[in-house]
Amino acid sequence: MRPFTPPVRTLLGPGPSDVHPRVLEAMSRPTIGHLDPRFVAMMDEVKELLQYAFRTRNALTLPVSAPGSAGMEACFTNLVEPGETVIVCQNGVFGGRMKENVERCGGTAVIVQDDWGTAVDPAKVEAALAGHPEAKIVAFVHAETSTGAQSDAQRIAALAHARGALVIADTVTSLGGTPVEVDAWGLDAVYSGTQKCLSCAPGLSPVTFGERAVHKIRNRRTKVQSWFLDLNLIMGYWGSGQRRAYHHTAPVNALYGLHEALLILHEEGIENAWARHRRHHVALRAGLEAMGLRLVVAEPDRLPQLNAVAIPDGVEDAAVRTRLLDELDLEIGAGLGDLAGRIWRIGLMGRSSRPQNILYCLAALEAVLGGTGTVRTGVAVAAAERALAA
Ligand SMILES: *Cc1c(COP(=O)(O)O)cnc(C)c1O
Repeated sequence: MRPFTPPVRTLLGPGPSDVHPRVLEAMSRPTIGHLDPRFVAMMDEVKELLQYAFRTRNALTLPVSAPGSAGMEACFTNLVEPGETVIVCQNGVFGGRMKENVERCGGTAVIVQDDWGTAVDPAKVEAALAGHPEAKIVAFVHAETSTGAQSDAQRIAALAHARGALVIADTVTSLGGTPVEVDAWGLDAVYSGTQKCLSCAPGLSPVTFGERAVHKIRNRRTKVQSWFLDLNLIMGYWGSGQRRAYHHTAPVNALYGLHEALLILHEEGIENAWARHRRHHVALRAGLEAMGLRLVVAEPDRLPQLNAVAIPDGVEDAAVRTRLLDELDLEIGAGLGDLAGRIWRIGLMGRSSRPQNILYCLAALEAVLGGTGTVRTGVAVAAAERALAA
């Protein structure tokens, strides 16, 4: 065996996205103790930068030391007590995982079902709340990475609050790419990931909890069944001031990376990051449509950072993706579940959302699909160029 040398890829899938060289460099800095005063001071900055990204003043804002799925689990294990009813909106893969979480917490999930590739229908959420006045929580995925559809988080939160329910929002793919307004929308418990629009390495999950959620967690009848994710204990480590107590060894170098990634977002300005994701989505779409390819999500629900493209009839999904990866070092995503074999998912997330990647991706698709006779060639790059120049 020899040291592992990964190939240099262009990551235009559903995550991870391209990690900024500044983040990789930050992660290679010397490891120090996780209770070292200098490290603790950096943790305070990470928290402040996460509050900036989430647009919140929530004191309980921190990165869980594990990937987005652990942030999901942290929200459910802390907020759902046995016997409680939770309304779960399901319009893709991740809503299905929320249902699993509720059931494993001993709760009952009431499913609000919408077609894959469409947004959550607020009217159905309202009807579910009316039919289940005992429901304590509404859980939904803001940006469904499996389909490329975005739901109206503000509206869903307002409906839940009108009935006295809290909301759990999955913002793994939206944070840093499209607006996530935790305070303005009153989102009670929110989790995200580092490897999508924050363009950090995978493995951490930023979370934030509002006052109502913290009150509920502090006043549970039963113990949180996960020791590691029990926020009552984590608060002692990530809480403010000098009283940091050992809970687990923080992933020190991973947190250097997150600090740097959030600094980069702050330097750009989050509104500018949202605008960039939108602008580049428009350019990619112009190129894809010029080729004759079709986006599957209807315009108003489309996520700019995750483009679900219908695979033309007669084109073999896996063969195309394998050629892109092996010959051109370009990763795009496959469809999941119901959409497997029917769509490609082209992510323009975080640092991956750059003009050179759009042009490269379009040229690569033309090169690989050209021979199949299913697309127009020689037009996509120019169409994207015009959109970028507009
Ligand atoms: C990627 C993703 C997750 C899971 O994050 P991991 O870091 O892979 O655990 C959860 N929800 C959504 C919407 C995602 O896109």
